[in-house]
Amino acid sequence: MPDQLQIALNDAYAQAVTQTDGHLADYIPELTVVDPDKFGLAIMTAKGRLCEVGDVDVAFTIQSVSKAFAYCMALELLGAEGVQAKVGVEPSGDAFNAIEFDPISRRPYNPMVNAGAIAVAGILRDAFQGNALERVLDRFSLAAGRKLDIDESVFRSEQATGYRNRAIGQLLCGAGLLHEPIDAAVDLYFQVCSIRVTARDLATMAATLSNMGANPTTGDEVFDFRAVRSTLSVMLSCGMYNFSGKWTHDVGIPAKSGVGGGLIGVVNRQVGIGAFSPRLDAKGNSVRGVHAMQRLSDELGLHAFECTNVGSSFVEHLL
Ligand code: GLU
Repeated sequence: MPDQLQIALNDAYAQAVTQTDGHLADYIPELTVVDPDKFGLAIMTAKGRLCEVGDVDVAFTIQSVSKAFAYCMALELLGAEGVQAKVGVEPSGDAFNAIEFDPISRRPYNPMVNAGAIAVAGILRDAFQGNALERVLDRFSLAAGRKLDIDESVFRSEQATGYRNRAIGQLLCGAGLLHEPIDAAVDLYFQVCSIRVTARDLATMAATLSNMGANPTTGDEVFDFRAVRSTLSVMLSCGMYNFSGKWTHDVGIPAKSGVGGGLIGVVNRQVGIGAFSPRLDAKGNSVRGVHAMQRLSDELGLHAFECTNVGSSFVEHLL
């Protein structure tokens, strides 16, 4: 019998690969030297079945896709209320690197934009001190099912030129949401953005979230399932920068993108999807990644409110 999941993936790939518009991120030179034509797409079920197509072994930096997993770790440490004392859960409607806080709560809008993610890095740094990077790498590696590392040259470049992120760090400190040494939190943020992954890794990490925090291939319990619930909620409302409203409406999959060209989608209790294609649209999302995810959502009925999207609920067993 033909593998329907693989067929749907191949079809989404074939549709999306024709898209050649968009531009590489160019805020640091390292991101401009990647091959713009690379495209990898992988999907892993919550039971651990993997389908893949294209350049699924090409390494790139995780960038803002890391924000979802770092947030999950912060939730485990402080609980939802504790984290919300520092970072909100409202879509900002502004660019990922906007230097702004919610004017009423005086906190970053959400953990999926830089301001919120830097506050989250402060939470992780406070908890784990000098071991914070190691702890994050260990956890991300468990989610990916293999040992991940940092792209040192991307990290150094981010560190050398990250003026806006440093400014955000200063403002967070002024608002009492971060403390000295501010650089420790901002550098941790840069390091976490510089973790190297592949599209296959992203699919596995996404599948770990879809499987209530347990890696479906290794069985490792990586994230607390309550933290996963909160993370997926914020991914659905805020994960695609200032495209999040349209994304949720059209695609309906909790997702997070990064300017390295990575994109994850998580369908609760069903599948994790990982995509890599470095050409970005004006809002910073991978052009092919968005196309492919839209196609998969339509073809497989993955939109959260699709009538065919079942399997996310215990209720059917109670009827
Ligand atoms: N390292 C990037 C920055 O902070 C991440 C941005 C992103 O992927 O959205 O500017």
